[in-house]
Amino acid sequence: MDYSPAPESPDLAIEWLKEHKSSFGLFINGKWRKPKSAAVFKTVNPASGKKLATITEAGKAEVNAAVNAAKQAFPKWNALSGHERARYLYAIARQIQKHSRLFAVLESMDNGKTIRETRDIDVPLVIRHFYHHAGWAQTLESEFPEHTAIGPVGQIIPWNFPLMLLSWKIAPALAAGNTVVLKPAEFTPLTALLFAEICSLTGLPPGVLNVLTGPGNTGSMLVKHPDLKKIAFTGSTEVGRIIREQTADSDKKLTLELGGKSPFIVFEDADLDSAIEGLVDAIWFNQGQVCCAGSRLLVQESVAEKVTDRLKTRMAKLRVGDPLDKSMDMGAIIAPIQKKRIQKLVDQGKKEGAEIWQWQGTLPQNGCYFPPTLLTNVAPASTVAQTEIFGPVLSSMTFRTPDEAVMLANNSAYGLAASVWSENINQSLHLAPKLKVGVVWINCTNQFDASAGFGGYRESGYGREGGHEGMFEYLKLKKGAVDSAQRLKVKQATKTDKSGQYQIDRTAKLYIGGKQTRPDSGYSLPVVNADGSLAGEIGHGNRKDIRNAVEAANKASGWHSLTPHSRAQILYFIAENLETRSEEFENRIMRLTGLNKKQAAQEVQTSVSRIFTYAALADKHEGLVHQPPMRGLALALNEPIGVMGIICPDEAPLLGLLSLLLPALAMGNSVVLIPSRPFALVATDFYQVLETSDVPPGVVNIVSGNALELGTILAKHDDVAGLWVVGTMDECTNSKKFSTGNMKIVWTCDGKELDWFDSQQSEGREWMRRASQVKNVWIPYGE
Ligand code: NDP
Repeated sequence: MDYSPAPESPDLAIEWLKEHKSSFGLFINGKWRKPKSAAVFKTVNPASGKKLATITEAGKAEVNAAVNAAKQAFPKWNALSGHERARYLYAIARQIQKHSRLFAVLESMDNGKTIRETRDIDVPLVIRHFYHHAGWAQTLESEFPEHTAIGPVGQIIPWNFPLMLLSWKIAPALAAGNTVVLKPAEFTPLTALLFAEICSLTGLPPGVLNVLTGPGNTGSMLVKHPDLKKIAFTGSTEVGRIIREQTADSDKKLTLELGGKSPFIVFEDADLDSAIEGLVDAIWFNQGQVCCAGSRLLVQESVAEKVTDRLKTRMAKLRVGDPLDKSMDMGAIIAPIQKKRIQKLVDQGKKEGAEIWQWQGTLPQNGCYFPPTLLTNVAPASTVAQTEIFGPVLSSMTFRTPDEAVMLANNSAYGLAASVWSENINQSLHLAPKLKVGVVWINCTNQFDASAGFGGYRESGYGREGGHEGMFEYLKLKKGAVDSAQRLKVKQATKTDKSGQYQIDRTAKLYIGGKQTRPDSGYSLPVVNADGSLAGEIGHGNRKDIRNAVEAANKASGWHSLTPHSRAQILYFIAENLETRSEEFENRIMRLTGLNKKQAAQEVQTSVSRIFTYAALADKHEGLVHQPPMRGLALALNEPIGVMGIICPDEAPLLGLLSLLLPALAMGNSVVLIPSRPFALVATDFYQVLETSDVPPGVVNIVSGNALELGTILAKHDDVAGLWVVGTMDECTNSKKFSTGNMKIVWTCDGKELDWFDSQQSEGREWMRRASQVKNVWIPYGE
């Protein structure tokens, strides 16, 4: 017995293409433009290789026109009430709903994915996304009272989920009051163009949405455009790195949703039949061209043979062929170049010792197809276990214990998602926080919803799309940092101490792993009081000191495992000990800065209060429980980033330092802190407070020296997961530019000035958010 063909008619899409004479311009300022001089390219159906339409390539003039339209439209759009914007988003959702069949068919034809997926997954998720974000627009003023829109934003998306990723980008941007210039992928521009047309039907004001088709170069022009205030990118880690570097010297906000190599972990006590069905959805969904595809099967040794046998039986029954046939499991690969890449990686896997098992059915004669493929006997360090294949290829490995499963799962540069299969919920929930990924699916896989943020750790990028956390990516504080030409000048030693020589060595040491240590270089730097006299000396830290400090910070990961209540108690203890020594700190601040007693006392008292705030927030920055449209929950957990580097400001020597250190500690991060060069003695005095406050060794490490030099070393260090820089524009730029190795999360002041005494911009939940990343753990329930 076999399936009969169950074709979905392409007529609706063909009709739509005919209406446009199969030729499309660019959507700029609410109008279609086809500049005569513009180059064109074609988009083809991967299932047949046949041309679908001619597409216009946006060049410099068009990029400028679109950005300008978005810039002009921004003030009015942002000034609309949340309700008014909500009505547009709602109207867009309704229009997509009305045209859902056309969208589903067109997406399937342009991308090669099955109609079953576009109809039942992509399009419904897109509609849900716009409805959900209509809700955020409606409630923006009450839900985000301290925030406002960023401005015109550039958005660049790949070809694997053209319409869905468009909705993930456009819906939150518009809801927050931003205007958009979107560039779809060259391979799959059609549903973005249909979407622009649909938006016109809703009366969306001109310039609010602009769609520019074109190659990577068009995207690159957007990235470099000075008038765009944010770039949101989904695509390869390789291009993500380029974009990080290209935006390093600007104050553009950036979110990067990059690649993955997600583990699919099967324990011996899992419901194996469900796990096998899960695997089909994990790796053969969208032909495996999914950033969060469960492409690494980690199966417990005791059931490995059984799982492999059952998997082969299930694979043999997969149906691969015409994407418009409703009974197909897998459609076509996006393009011959991608198919070649998949084949090359499979060949490489074979060379490195993997055994290959492939689906034996007949692939269609025409079009671009690749059979479902299973690689067994894969070594954890081999190419096919480490490199994102982005095709229907599963690499299988085994483990013995839960610890080994975690180790193997985390043995990847990426950190997008993981699936855990076990009937023992305790075990799965025990594993979830240990997995270095942005999403954990327990006994399920590839679940998405507009309410639950999606995004990665490590080289899978940063920022979240969807939900509450996703909205913050398109907002900024109303009262943010301001441009400043007035940063405190670094004071150089102009005079020596009147006594000329010290009786005893007064060089403040570095503070690493809970111990005062001499700098590796053996050199010290002078610190000068406001009156020009020598205040003392500080250690001149170097690369080796940073390495030691990062190692110590890594070993202090137990800080994160403490209960938030315990962390809060230690922070309160720091406040108590600082208060006891307030006079000493006041004197130090007065001498170093020249402030009077009242001003210095105010800084110390505000510092004590700030510590109290973070002790208070340590057990209150909790996550959310989402109820996505399934029988289950998604727990949004706020997790620490890990080891964080912090470059401290020159203003407000004590308060500035604590305003950065405290939220990081409250969230459970361990820190390598570079104090302000002219005021480093405040930091070195402060480690004496730390020593008496039960802060475990390695949780705070202080390395004094040149901020630019040490910041660059921290940026390049792959064991540093996050970096905050408050300093000059050069220091900020360097930290972004050199952080592309592990794509660490970087926040900088962009050379601007913060008012450390203003609690609205320098204290509170915004900083707790900056010090954390959200992990969504999906838990289905019921039989
Ligand atoms: P690319 O990174 O090549 O392209 C993504 C987008 O960026 C495309 O629109 C592309 O244009 C454009 N682009 C290419 N070069 C530049 C540049 N220098 N500057 C600006 N834009 C540029 O990825 P693919 O399209 O090949 O998509 C596959 C990758 O995307 C996979 O690695 C996958 O893991 C990742 N991905 C991640 C997701 C996530 O959510 N984390 C989701 C989906 C995919 P053009 O198409 O014209 O080349």
